[in-house]
Parts: sequence; structure tokens; C-alpha cells
Amino acid sequence: MGERASRADTIFPAVYGERLADTFDGLPLNTATLERLRSGLTFTLPERIQTLTSDTADKYLWRLSDGCTVESVLMKHEFGHNICVSTQVGCNMGCAFCVSGRLKRRRDLTVSEMAGQVVGTARHSGIRPGGISIMGIGEPLENFDNVLDFIGIMTYPKGFDIGIKHITLSTCGVVPGIYKLAESAYPVNLAISLHAPTDELRGKLMPITRRYPISEVMGAARDYSEKLNRRITLEYVMLDGVNDSDECAAQLAGLIGSMNAYVNLIRYNSGADSEFRCSPHERIMGFYDTLKKHGVGVTMRRSLGDTINAACGQLSAHGSDNKA
Ligand code: SAH
Repeated sequence: MGERASRADTIFPAVYGERLADTFDGLPLNTATLERLRSGLTFTLPERIQTLTSDTADKYLWRLSDGCTVESVLMKHEFGHNICVSTQVGCNMGCAFCVSGRLKRRRDLTVSEMAGQVVGTARHSGIRPGGISIMGIGEPLENFDNVLDFIGIMTYPKGFDIGIKHITLSTCGVVPGIYKLAESAYPVNLAISLHAPTDELRGKLMPITRRYPISEVMGAARDYSEKLNRRITLEYVMLDGVNDSDECAAQLAGLIGSMNAYVNLIRYNSGADSEFRCSPHERIMGFYDTLKKHGVGVTMRRSLGDTINAACGQLSAHGSDNKA
């Protein structure tokens, strides 16, 4: 806007700092600058149309300026709060087990629509997040530039000041995007939705496998972990009788080999009309033990918000008619 860069240091903390101001009023700026800000920028957030709350998570439904809706989730962990944001309206990845993919992608979210989910959630809840999960609706690496600018805002020291190690981006395995992220200004934690150890099985669950086979995904993951000296998360959703055998676990261990990665097992959250079921608890533990036996690090993701359909794979931006 032709303003001095130092003015940003007055404005940014007001907008994204403790106050989360929704007006420029009261900022120590001259009248001309204030006028220019007021006429050139807006504070419009996505409109909050619904909040569902539970002990472990609150789900927010937002209406965007063009009427599209997306969801964000405030996740209440014992160690602090995270906000999970959506990056697209709908998703084109078509994973067989995920309800978000049933809405075809309408468009990418803008930077302000992503930041708006965080600001809106923080304002409404009174909670400033300690971390961000880029794991809501959409494939973040398909909206790369906007997601990166969004991360820039979240990490800016005079705003939310969230460390890049407290931000996790989950991808279904868009290989060029993984290489690009490694070279970017914000190499956040990387989680990859793997969900199966062979191309044959993964291809049935995740069509993206035809574009980027597992060998290429694992190659990109290895590159990321080595370049950044970072541990990669491999997400693995437990589907009863589909991908949960000990053989699958052994194959998965073989893929990981010496790579600095661990497996995060996710309970499958089924909806009313799901064709899949979650593996029984004993099977999940069997799978877990097999991975351990092969020397693979493994954790179980605590499911948050499943009572309000706010858990992994349950975001559909349909609001309350989406209730189980
Ligand atoms: N598109 C990105 C971001 C979504 S993250 C990605 O695919 O990684 C959401 C995570 O939840 C992904 O690992 C996804 O595979 C998983 N998921 C999808 N449906 C699920 C369900 N019904 N139960 C549990 N996890 C699910």
C-alpha cells in the first residue's frame, strides 16, 4: 500500500496478537494511514454458522463469502490446544474411506479463509492455539502457495507465533509438493496418509497412488526427513479385514526400513453408510505389536471429536444434518 514496512509491526500484533482486534481503531497510526487501511483492507471473517462441542473437540462450520462452507476443529489435548483447518472446499482425491472426498472440490481456500478459520475459532473459544494441524478438508499440497502464506502468518513472531515444529501438514502423497515443501521457507512437520503397504491395495483405497506410487512417496518422505533432519509421520487408518493383517504390518515395516519415520495408527471413524469398518481393538494391537517387533516406532492417534463427527475423515461441511 506504499506504507512504511515498520507500520506492519503496529498492525500485525493487533490483528493476530493477544487482542485479535477486529478494527483498526485505536492503533497508534496517523489519520491518513488509518483511512487507507480502512478503505483498502477488511476484517471480514468467514461467518460462523454452527459450533458443535464435546469434551475433546469443538467443530466449527464456516460460511465463506461465496456461500461455500468448510469446517475447522478445535482439538483439546491434555498438553494444549490445536486447531485443525481445511484448505479446500471439497476434495478431489477420492479416497474410498473418507467423507470429505464425497464433496467434489469446488475451489481452493484463500490465505485469509484459512487464517480466518484460526482467528474465528480462537476468538469464539477464547483459546489461542499452541499448534495447527493442516488436516481438515482438502489436499493442502494442491493449494500449495496459499497454504504456505497461511503458515507464514501463523508462525509470524508478532502474531500467533506458532513454531513450525508445532504445525503439521498431512498429505495423501502429492510427491512434487513434498519436495517443494522441503525447499520452502516453512518446512513444517510432515504427515503422509499411507494407509496401505502395496500399490495394489493402496490403489483401491487411494486413487492418487496411480499418479504417485508408494516408492515415489517414500522416496520423497526420505528426502524430507534427511534434508530437514525430521521424523516423518506415516498415517495408517485401520480398516477391518482390508489393510490390518500382520502381513501388511511386516510389509509396512519393510517400506520404512531405516528411514526416520514412525507409524501413527488411526482408528477408522465410520459413518452411517460407510462400506468399511474399524479393525477390532485386538487386531489393532496385533498390528501394533508386529510393527514394534520389526523395530518400527508406532503410536495410536487418540480420536478426538468422534461424538460430533469432528474426527479424522468425518469433516463434510454439512453441519448438523451430518450428525450420526
Ligand atoms: N488430504 C490430506 C489431509 C486430510 S487429513 C490427507 O489425505 O492426508 C485427514 C486424515 O484422516 C487422513 O490421513 C485421512 O486419510 C484420514 N481419514 C480419512 N477418513 C477417515 C476416517 N473415516 N477415519 C479415520 N481417518 C480417516
